[in-house]
Parts: sequence; C-alpha cells; structure tokens
Amino acid sequence: MSTVMTLSLPPLPYADSALDPVISANTIGFHYGKHHKAYVDNGNKLLAGTDLEGRPMAEIIKATYGKADKAGVFNNVAQVWNHDFYWLSMRPGGGGAPKGRIADQINSSFGSYDTFKTELSQAAMTQFGSGWAWLVSEGGKLKVTKTPNAENPLVHGQTPLLTIDVWEHAYYLDFQNRRADYVSAWLDKLVNWDFAEKNLG
Ligand code: MN
Repeated sequence: MSTVMTLSLPPLPYADSALDPVISANTIGFHYGKHHKAYVDNGNKLLAGTDLEGRPMAEIIKATYGKADKAGVFNNVAQVWNHDFYWLSMRPGGGGAPKGRIADQINSSFGSYDTFKTELSQAAMTQFGSGWAWLVSEGGKLKVTKTPNAENPLVHGQTPLLTIDVWEHAYYLDFQNRRADYVSAWLDKLVNWDFAEKNLG
C-alpha cells in the first residue's frame, strides 16, 4: 500500500488577515484554502502509484516539463511549488526598497531599485492571461522573468528569488481587473526581501 504523499499544504507563515488590506482574508481563504489545496489534492491523485510518487517537487517539475502526457502532473505539482514560494515571497509589513546584499545585487544588475520595480511591474502586467512574474538569479546576475500558467524558472535552470502570482484568483476579489494596482501595492507593502536574500544562497 502506498502511503508516500509527495505533496502537502504547509501552514501559511502568517495569519489569514495579516496581508490585509492589500490581500484580504477573503482572498487568502479562496487562494490558499481552495486553489492551492486543489493543486495539492489533484497532484497527489495523479502521482499515486507512479514512478514519481514521493520524489522531490523540483525533480518532478523538471522531469515532466514539456511532456504532453504528463501535463496534468506538471501543472499541479508546479502550481504547488509556485504557491509555496509565493506565500514566502510576502510578509506583513514588507515592501519597499531592499537593504544589504540583495540591494547591492539589485543595483548592480538593474542599475537601481526603481528600474527593477519598473521591470517587475512590466513583466507582471504583460503576462497575458494567467501566470507569474519572477526575480531570478542566473549566471551571477539578477533578472526579471515571467512565465505562463504553471511554468516556473526551475525548468529554465534559473534560481528563483521572489515571485508574484498574477493569476486573476490572486487579486480579483480585492482589485477586480486592476492588476497594476495589485502589483504596485505588493511591491510597496508586501514583498519579503529577507526571503529573496536567503534564496541568493
Ligand atoms: Mn495562485
């Protein structure tokens, strides 16, 4: 009998209402409690009894990327990984310009924090439909990228540092169609630079 559960829903690192008013407890209730949980449940169902069951998420994501017959596994497992990473990319009382080592790397890679902000906002705004915008490290330099649907930087050999979810379920209850306002508030009030710095290694 198989009892190896590959995927789990970790507790949020803060209270449901801790990101209010940028992200309300109502949004968290649906986004974490329904959407994220559904990826965990569906992923575990699809993995049950397969060779990939019990393997680390990053390994499953890389092994199934671009394989048409594994699209269901890829989509659900990558979405679990992306959401785990997204919750940690925010903190109550976060936001604003970074300090220390991550600030130095932002400045050397983008020229200034304002340029980085513009690039991340552009990526978030121009991801047509559902997806993610990212700050990543690649070849000793920081870059902004965007990915559609469940895709993430792991499949491109990049090291993710931060992500913002731009699927409508991430912001629609609080901002309706105003994705730009969500992205701007996220940068000013929520982004967790300690997490980004930790991911630099
Ligand atoms: Mn989401």
